[in-house]
Amino acid sequence: MYRTHTCGELRISDVGKEVTLSGWVQTVRDKGFMMWIDLRDRYGVTQLIFNEEVSSTDLLEQARSVGREFVIMVTGKVIERISKNDKIPTGDVEIEVSEFTVLNAAKLPPFTIDDDTDGGDDLRMKYRYLDLRRGPVQRNMMFRSNLAIETRKYLADQGFLEIETPFLIKSTPEGARDFVVPSRMNPGQFYALPQSPQTFKQILMVAGMDKYFQIVKCFRDEDLRADRQPEFTQIDCEMAFITQEQILNTFEGLTKYLFKTVSNIELPDFPRMQYDEAMRRFGSDKPDLRFGMEFAELNDVAQNKGFKVFDSVELVVGICAEGCAAYTRKQVDELTKWVQRPQIGAKGLVYVKYNEDGSFKSSVDKFFSAEDLKAWADKMGAKPGDLMLVLAGETDKTRKQLNELRLEMGRRLGLMKEGDFKPLWVIDFPLLEWDEETERFYAMHHPFTSPKKEDVDRMLNGDHETMKSLRADAYDLVINGVEIGGGSIRIHDRGLQEKNFQLLGFTEEEAEAQFGFLLGAFEYGAPPHGGIAFGFDRLCAVMNGQNSIRDFIAFPKNNMGRDMMIDAPSPVHGEQLEELNLELKEIKKEE
Ligand code: ASP
Repeated sequence: MYRTHTCGELRISDVGKEVTLSGWVQTVRDKGFMMWIDLRDRYGVTQLIFNEEVSSTDLLEQARSVGREFVIMVTGKVIERISKNDKIPTGDVEIEVSEFTVLNAAKLPPFTIDDDTDGGDDLRMKYRYLDLRRGPVQRNMMFRSNLAIETRKYLADQGFLEIETPFLIKSTPEGARDFVVPSRMNPGQFYALPQSPQTFKQILMVAGMDKYFQIVKCFRDEDLRADRQPEFTQIDCEMAFITQEQILNTFEGLTKYLFKTVSNIELPDFPRMQYDEAMRRFGSDKPDLRFGMEFAELNDVAQNKGFKVFDSVELVVGICAEGCAAYTRKQVDELTKWVQRPQIGAKGLVYVKYNEDGSFKSSVDKFFSAEDLKAWADKMGAKPGDLMLVLAGETDKTRKQLNELRLEMGRRLGLMKEGDFKPLWVIDFPLLEWDEETERFYAMHHPFTSPKKEDVDRMLNGDHETMKSLRADAYDLVINGVEIGGGSIRIHDRGLQEKNFQLLGFTEEEAEAQFGFLLGAFEYGAPPHGGIAFGFDRLCAVMNGQNSIRDFIAFPKNNMGRDMMIDAPSPVHGEQLEELNLELKEIKKEE
């Protein structure tokens, strides 16, 4: 037997017991006549003590031969420690070792395996098995495992069936590119890896499964931004004979349950906000509600006062940074440069300091009287001591820019408090999004989302402009400004689905070729249905107040989509390509 206990288990009540432990050598401290080893496994760390008086010279010599990360097995007696360590649960005891076995030697690891490590990203990913031994990463894996298990418990309790859907499927346009897999048996044909099980879960509803869920891998071949992975995990769900209200309640219930059981955090009821309102008040469909700093629209108090920049624009809008009136010229200039960076793209920034003495100092003093600026302050709820920051321009763009500035000010002022969780349902998204560049509509959520009941008629009979104003039964769950998930009530009528495909620019033939199976299924008694998917990796990260989903994935890819450990992707043999009827074009190295 390799062990009677784990390295995280022994307490003062175990003193006197003879135990066997196995694990990795964390540290060795050698004082000559005495020596200690910290022995580590997933469960914790236990101190071993080697004493010249008790242990044989042989044993001591053996113990002295080991280094960090050796795998050893020891037997000995649990004794009370003289100097206790109250930082670890096993800190009251140590093991007086009488038998010692090296199970496996270890090379010196390329970085320190400790909570704080000196290893860079790529090195840690190359030796991910060593990185995964570190406390914080182990805790993340345990958290993730817990979250998955509790998700299953909750949904099973609610009558959901866990059903697997295939990974080798046909391309489903959902905004991103597909990863494709060549089919050997069908030369020249390809499978695609699912971006989500969307159509399958809808088919499961037509099939009468009623409530489906799956904790499932999804694949999207996107250019990787900081917090994206080409493969990621969703809690994917679908329900039949269901209203939006019921879906929101079910998944609000799931979220509260997970926060409570896994993190012991009690969440209040989730507020709801319409998409339009979120855009107006925060310039974002995923507002961070941990702080206020809401937008104030200033058109009626800031236009037609002789300041040309404001007069011709669609929107003049500002936020109030509390207590920032004392910002220096340099600080304000720096903020202006910040919003002018290409990533934000504002032309300029107007500031108004509402001084403690009630006077104003602004970058537009030439055009606006104190009385004018007081009217701005009233709109923004600004008081003496505050700083007003104002942007102007085309509505959508300006809102986006001010959203970035609001978040930046929130960060700088420390308003995004750790341990504070502010969930929000954003509802009533537009059905379609018009793209000026390509001159076509895109589905705001995906092509299977239903328009609101009251908008169906306008969708079937309205003109082009009408389509821009259609609302959908689509919703997102947002926590602290992060989109945790989204879903919608689906179209379950063939005619309406065809109309939607047509609006999205599909010809009848294209729609039939790509989604004939779904359209066909709708003709055999499709029940009303709807669902949602949560980003599982992201939920893990947000619940831990962390930004990166990578730290919650056992084997993540880097920014180039590479797995550094197994070194993928990689070329395949010519034979393999031949079997697949594929030919590689010569890849020219970029000069
Ligand atoms: N399939 C959707 C997604 O991946 C979620 C849903 O509509 O249920 O975003």
